[in-house]
Amino acid sequence: MRMAQSRRILPPPTAGGCSPACRPSTGQQVDILALRLPAAFSVLAVGLALSGCTPMDSSVCLVHLPNPIINIREAPRAAAPPPAPTISKRISDRTIVVDAGHGGKDPGAMPKFRGQMREKDINLDIATKVAGDLGSRGARVVMTRTRDVFLELDDRAKLADRHRADLFVSIHADSSAKKWVSGTGIHIHTRANYETMRVAQCIASSFRRNGISCRGIVRNNFHVLREHNSPGILIESGYMSNATDAQRLNDAAYRSRLASAIAEGIADHFSR
Ligand SMILES: [Zn+2]
Repeated sequence: MRMAQSRRILPPPTAGGCSPACRPSTGQQVDILALRLPAAFSVLAVGLALSGCTPMDSSVCLVHLPNPIINIREAPRAAAPPPAPTISKRISDRTIVVDAGHGGKDPGAMPKFRGQMREKDINLDIATKVAGDLGSRGARVVMTRTRDVFLELDDRAKLADRHRADLFVSIHADSSAKKWVSGTGIHIHTRANYETMRVAQCIASSFRRNGISCRGIVRNNFHVLREHNSPGILIESGYMSNATDAQRLNDAAYRSRLASAIAEGIADHFSR
């Protein structure tokens, strides 16, 4: 009874073939099986199983196979390459935590020039713009803060784990006693993995494409990069201690351009 039911789903001898992923790897392999198993259906089922098809795939393949008897006695075919892993990297499937550094009682780097914004305010503005851009690209975005409040570093990091974030991005602005030092910087953790380095490289490339000066990618043992399980990036948006950078960071249009470049780099990473 079972056999009769099985035979009913055997395909009519039609033209066309099975997808490479479902093809028996070589005719030779199937021939050996044919000597042991009398029923053509069984041979095909085992052959397909050997080729890497799941049971569900096998039934799909059977429908599209040409005449099974001819198929199993053909000369050996070149082995089909293993199917590429189908990892969806579209940004719309991703959760990204955007962290505006400092806030509340912690102002961050202090203004060095008259009328200069505080670091915590620069960070929040850029982070909000990055979040908006990523959101408009379809990402699920979580911000650590959306207003001027103080948050412990650990609470920021924990948010990444709580939301099982695919990426944690922290936005800061730098300061140095050397007033000539300028440019953005991209920080990853000392033991950052390959994926994290790749995100950093995508953002660096985006900075280059968008004419934003970047000092490079630096490994650092920062708390917000270390205390969670997501790939983590910390971006220093420029030097508040450098006159040119300070002027740029005070300019809303520049902050928008910078935020777009960050979002573009992140989107680039997830689209590859
Ligand atoms: Zn900072």
